[in-house]
Amino acid sequence: MERMIDCVLFGASGDLALSKLIPSIYRCTKEGHVSLQSRLFFCARSQSGFENMHKNVKDALYRYLQEEEKDEKAMAAFLDCVIPIQVDITDKSSFKQLKSQLTTQSNPTRVFYLAIPPGHYAQVARVLHDQQLITESTRLVVEKPIGSDLTSSESINDALATVFSEQQIFRIDHYLGKETVQNLLAMRFGNSLFERFWDADAIDHIQISINERVGVKGRVDYYEGIGALKDMVQNHLLQLLCLIAMESPNELTPESIHREKIKVLKALRPLTGESVNENTVRAQYVAGGQNNQMESGYLEDTELSESTTETFVAIKAHINSWTWSKVPFYLRTGKRLSKQRAEIVIQFKDVALSLYPEQQLQANRLVIQLQPEERLRLHMMAKDRESLSTELKPVVLDLNFLEQKGSYRSFAYKRLFLDAVDGNRSLFMHRDEVAAAWQWIDPIATQWNKTHDLHLYRAGTDGPEAADGLINADGRAWFESE
Ligand code: NDP
Repeated sequence: MERMIDCVLFGASGDLALSKLIPSIYRCTKEGHVSLQSRLFFCARSQSGFENMHKNVKDALYRYLQEEEKDEKAMAAFLDCVIPIQVDITDKSSFKQLKSQLTTQSNPTRVFYLAIPPGHYAQVARVLHDQQLITESTRLVVEKPIGSDLTSSESINDALATVFSEQQIFRIDHYLGKETVQNLLAMRFGNSLFERFWDADAIDHIQISINERVGVKGRVDYYEGIGALKDMVQNHLLQLLCLIAMESPNELTPESIHREKIKVLKALRPLTGESVNENTVRAQYVAGGQNNQMESGYLEDTELSESTTETFVAIKAHINSWTWSKVPFYLRTGKRLSKQRAEIVIQFKDVALSLYPEQQLQANRLVIQLQPEERLRLHMMAKDRESLSTELKPVVLDLNFLEQKGSYRSFAYKRLFLDAVDGNRSLFMHRDEVAAAWQWIDPIATQWNKTHDLHLYRAGTDGPEAADGLINADGRAWFESE
């Protein structure tokens, strides 16, 4: 289906827009999902961002697209849709040009995409309303994080709600657009096999890790004072936790899915006071290296003499429900770690009785990998074909989506952009989810501010020893897939 849209992208000269959004919108036009009669108003505040828009967009396409996607003709046609606009959100009068261009003609769907600092969201909503630019078919897409605590997020969401209905607001978490994450739902609710074992009777514990190779260079202004807890755990990790822990919705509508996710977030066992110290680890990277290549530490990257901003978090969380109260969820995320890797590990329990007493049986493990590859792997024990006796060895049932015949590479932002255009909110966050997540995060941040307890880890490693200690204390270990 070809969609005719007017898309206004605020922050088109920024990192997110150039590296992820613009390549994804290009994919939508190249693959015929979005019509080339659409108008793409790419907004920058700076003079240079505005004047060099076409050049910067073209450079970004060459830099961030896969080789096979670079098609000169398709890129030229895409660039023809781009209309550069200079707007300073803090200056109402600078919206004049945008307004006159938007309203001279109009395509069926209007999308305002805010790839700008969240502090500006309320202001943009107000101006769009004052300038009468919001129609019934208008959608507003906003990036995470919404605010920096419950109070600021509620104030942003209240401001958005005064001019947009909840149905018009698309709070994006790009992890939810990943094919494997959607496959997690398909696996749970499209099969009878897994759901029967999806509880404390069968599952020992769950791990969710989002490990990044990159540091904070280039995003220092944003990151300092925010840190990994608010940048990653409040949204990505808790959203993944919701999809694992939620009960089956009675239908796959946005409302039913949101309802189930909110139940999980509200059932998170609060961490306050001393329980924060016992169940969380916060840390910051210092200079270190891999393969003889030294990488700088956080203080060098930020050019600060001191900072308690964490670049690594590990948390042991519990959900207060009959299904999950006995199953710990170990969450971890960090920057400048040894590998770029995002995965969910469902660790099942040992067999009830071992009939192979001489052998070391490994309990089943389901690994849902989101990065670097999207794949599902079920670790099991099977008889060793090369042995004449009943020797067992670990084997893996491996579902690699890229290697499947006829499969195509999935791009989360493309999928989510099209969902927003189509008005499908299933993979976006409801404001109550954002609020419930902050409600759980805020006391942790408060306690951290009191204790100032910050571990250090060397760049290029797997994080601080204290994070191993957190899980090892329960007789478990972080799973590191090859
Ligand atoms: P950048 O700092 O790279 O870009 C910010 C953009 O906002 C620039 O285009 C800038 O325009 C524009 N901008 C800033 N102030 C104004 C203003 N007063 N009026 C108009 N435009 C303005 O940020 P990112 O691209 O990294 O991030 C943008 C948003 O996306 C943030 O909310 C961030 O949290 C979120 N995000 C970013 C991710 C990433 O990977 N980068 C990942 C997930 C979310 P100009 O350059 O012309 O001044």
